[in-house]
Amino acid sequence: MTKSEGFKPTVAVLPPDISAYRDGNTGIPYVTTFDSGKPGPHVMVNALTHGNELCGAHALCFLFEQNVRPPKGKLTLSFANVAAFSRFDKHQPFASRFVDEDFNRLWNDEVLDDARQSQELARAREFRPLVARVDYLLDIHSMHLPSPALVLTGLQERSLRLAQAVGIPSYVVLDEGHQAGRRMRDYNAFSDPHSAKTALLVECGQHWVQSSVDVARATALYFLRECGIVDAEFCAAHLPVSEKQPQTVVEVSTPVTITSTEFRFAEDYRGFETIKEAGSLIAYDGDQEIRTPYDDCVLVMPTATERAKPGQTGVRLGRVIA
Ligand SMILES: [Zn+2]
Repeated sequence: MTKSEGFKPTVAVLPPDISAYRDGNTGIPYVTTFDSGKPGPHVMVNALTHGNELCGAHALCFLFEQNVRPPKGKLTLSFANVAAFSRFDKHQPFASRFVDEDFNRLWNDEVLDDARQSQELARAREFRPLVARVDYLLDIHSMHLPSPALVLTGLQERSLRLAQAVGIPSYVVLDEGHQAGRRMRDYNAFSDPHSAKTALLVECGQHWVQSSVDVARATALYFLRECGIVDAEFCAAHLPVSEKQPQTVVEVSTPVTITSTEFRFAEDYRGFETIKEAGSLIAYDGDQEIRTPYDDCVLVMPTATERAKPGQTGVRLGRVIA
């Protein structure tokens, strides 16, 4: 048994009122595009890929309230899984991650073209032409356990460079994604080594703590600055000066995909623990022992034991590369 089995978060952040953004101006509910009318990149900041990850929605409301507009190109602000978000209940806060299935495991053409139906597939199909068009995407998430904030870049060098230019949060993770399905940040061009289109996924911290809202807002602002949407002066006016810290880059070698209904960790990991010796026991998956494959193995985003299900990612194993 681990302590995380009993992890009971306090819900200190409640859902913002996003009803003012329902109509948007794109024909897609809760999606707004500001077009400067001048040539330039199309930049998108997305929240609520998971309905109960509230920090991104607060960050978007802030951007709307500040009347952020692109000086060139386009800026899209989008709320993805609003159907799940609208069911948020602070007494059952984990229940509104999605309605039918995970919106962020549907992003390849085979799945999107399939005849299968679900709330999330319908929403992903609405989003698809937009996601295919944008040049830069920041997808804002949060985590079940109180782990340090991190940005997931995928495997393309250009995504790592953008994450380093954005400069926060302090952990950068290069990973391929999940066996259970492709994420929006992995969709087509974002994973194509020959494309320039670049996507980042930020995990801002625990779902319902104020610090995750702060991280979401800061990451969105630095991302928009890198994309030429806001300037340094605007960032400085809305952020603490000492926000940036040196970043640690971790390359994930092995996602541990859960195979049994009885997955549990050997200790109460919260993320970014470094396990010194290769062969150290870190988890049990039914009868199988999960051991570290190399020295100085870093544990990235351990799942909460109560959420562990076959087919899902239990933890990612990686090495510090920078
Ligand atoms: Zn998420």
